Amino acid sequence: MSILVTGGAGFIGSHLCRALLAQGEKVVVLDDLSTGNLGNLEGLEDGKNLQVFVGSVNDVRLVDELVSRADFVYHLASAVGVRLIIDQPVRTIESIVGGTTVVLDACNRYRKPFLLTSTSEVYGKGSKVPFSENDDTVMGPTSTRRWSYACAKALDEFLALAYWVETRLPVTVVRLFNTVGPRQTGQYGMVIPNLVTQALQGKPITVFGDGTQSRCFTHVADIVGALMKLRDCEAARGQVINLGNDQEITILDLAKRIQELTKTNAPIEIIPYDKAYGPGFEDMHRRVPDISKAGNIIGYRPTRGLDLILEDVIAEKRHRLGL
Ligand code: UDP
Repeated sequence: MSILVTGGAGFIGSHLCRALLAQGEKVVVLDDLSTGNLGNLEGLEDGKNLQVFVGSVNDVRLVDELVSRADFVYHLASAVGVRLIIDQPVRTIESIVGGTTVVLDACNRYRKPFLLTSTSEVYGKGSKVPFSENDDTVMGPTSTRRWSYACAKALDEFLALAYWVETRLPVTVVRLFNTVGPRQTGQYGMVIPNLVTQALQGKPITVFGDGTQSRCFTHVADIVGALMKLRDCEAARGQVINLGNDQEITILDLAKRIQELTKTNAPIEIIPYDKAYGPGFEDMHRRVPDISKAGNIIGYRPTRGLDLILEDVIAEKRHRLGL
């Protein structure tokens, strides 16, 4: 098979490409290298089974050509990270809504199956625990930039599902919950790569808010395993599916665990949200996935717990920092 992976040079995309190539598939990557980088694909570009196109998902002609040649399309290209979304809201909205419109239009033209990676951010500030796929989305005001990401991704979901309803284009939507692992950069604000790097460098470990907010972290290898299974899964067509890990930890406890595992003397620094992100920032207090639907459809169960995730990230960051 020939598989098109948009965003294939990104953190999750590059792990997916490795797994597809290991299975003997041919992989075509389309990535504008805005947040991804070719280093993520190092060692894979032997020219035979992997082709990389540096370009945008907003490029209608290029997308048309690549989709026409593909047997399946994984659409991962997207603005990522709370930091980037707050700093560049125009780019966030245009790349997410515009890019997905172009890719879906081409998939529909050539009747190519399509998988969208959406986000747990779509649940917004809903307070129900855990989040199930049919729960309400609870967004904040349009003046709070963070919500543009959730709204844009929600619109992508609506569009994908609309193609399924109106034309029976095979589409699958997955909502990823805080995915982490080697090669994730801290540049766009993600907590684990940032806190691990700070701990290894002996710099203050920055906990935003009061640290009582919690998250559930999933190893990228668990997510990639599920993405691979979903490709051939008829029962997933037209569905929205949570992918994550239901092991929950507060950010303060996460920072303490990172201190322990890195054996650092670096202190924890509590930083108010408005200092970290600017005035008017809204965070989600808890975000726990209900992963029973993925369990029923593809037998999904996360296999890697938080310590294993942290050990993998610590080993990679140590290597990168030359420690
Ligand atoms: N966070 C933090 N310190 C950092 C970066 C993030 O305390 O250096 C917090 C952030 O405010 C949020 C949580 O960690 O409550 C997860 O942040 P991330 O950006 O990784 O993902 P989110 O779940 O917010 O999309």
